[in-house]
Amino acid sequence: MDESQSKLEKALEIRGISRRDFLKYVGMLGVMTGLSESAILKSLAQAAEKGGSGKLPVVWLNGQDCTGCTISLAGSLNPPVASLILDKLSIRYHETIMAASGEVAEEAYKEALKKGGYLLVVEGSIPEADDRFCMIGGRPFKEIVKEAAAKASMIVAVGACASFGGIPASTPSRGMGVKKLLPEKTVVNLSTCPVHPDHLVGTILQVLVTGKAPELDENGRPKIYFGPSVHDNCRRRSYFDASMFLKDWNDPAQKDYCLFEKGCKGPNVNSDCPIRRWNDGLNFCIDCGAGCQGCSDPTFYSKMTPLYTSEGEVSRKIWARKQAGLIPAKV
Ligand code: SF4
Ligand code: SF4
Repeated sequence: MDESQSKLEKALEIRGISRRDFLKYVGMLGVMTGLSESAILKSLAQAAEKGGSGKLPVVWLNGQDCTGCTISLAGSLNPPVASLILDKLSIRYHETIMAASGEVAEEAYKEALKKGGYLLVVEGSIPEADDRFCMIGGRPFKEIVKEAAAKASMIVAVGACASFGGIPASTPSRGMGVKKLLPEKTVVNLSTCPVHPDHLVGTILQVLVTGKAPELDENGRPKIYFGPSVHDNCRRRSYFDASMFLKDWNDPAQKDYCLFEKGCKGPNVNSDCPIRRWNDGLNFCIDCGAGCQGCSDPTFYSKMTPLYTSEGEVSRKIWARKQAGLIPAKV
């Protein structure tokens, strides 16, 4: 065992992570990212060896957001193992979780900016209607994002808000995503609401191992997470194909029926939610009995409302428009 491997072993021991659990997680990461397990192990071992100097600097900005994306990551149910990867980050600025505040926090931000080369993570949308909807330290958030993006080595928009505007896009502020503000930049959109912790950890790992962003689709989302539609992998799909739609929430006989008539947007939405699921693989919207609300789609939230319907009219309308080619693939 070389020195870097023994440091990795030590890091596992300190966290109380068994080698078996660790290798299981690395295997899952391999499937998740398409990277080889040996490349992941090598990268983690090298980072453990380098310590502080090997850490990837991160500047995390919050705009028009609810902090749900930060909570999604912080509340990941598998923190000991995921922390091995998150420990490879040096969070230079994150206004929600950093101990510093006020001028001290602003100094930390300026210091990170001076050095450059950081991973810029943006949570929350940017007001398009008027800068005054989101000002930080007396400055428009829009300016701060532009300034931070100029020196970033990579930009990741976490959640629907930072990717495409999300819920704030439907407010008077007309929230927009980072890519709309910076069309010339490559922005990795991790667009569920909130961001899926696996999507963010997997993207970070990809950057650590390859130094590159994952392959993106036409909406800037990693193909590996946003490929097939929710509908394609839904366990209620056979009921859809048999036209057996849930009509009455209170009828136990219908409990597994397709939720299309209740407003499920799954046929119109691409995400690996049915396979990856949420809360450490425990469950996800459709298996809880709630239709997909389309949070990963560029048209969320405005074109996905009402989220629930009694007759499926919204799902039908959206689907018919999509089938007729009236909804462009790229928004
Ligand atoms: S994407 Fe969802 S969870 Fe994340 S900041 Fe926006 S509203 Fe909150
Ligand atoms: S519940 Fe939604 S995603 Fe699942 S089969 Fe029905 S329409 Fe498709």
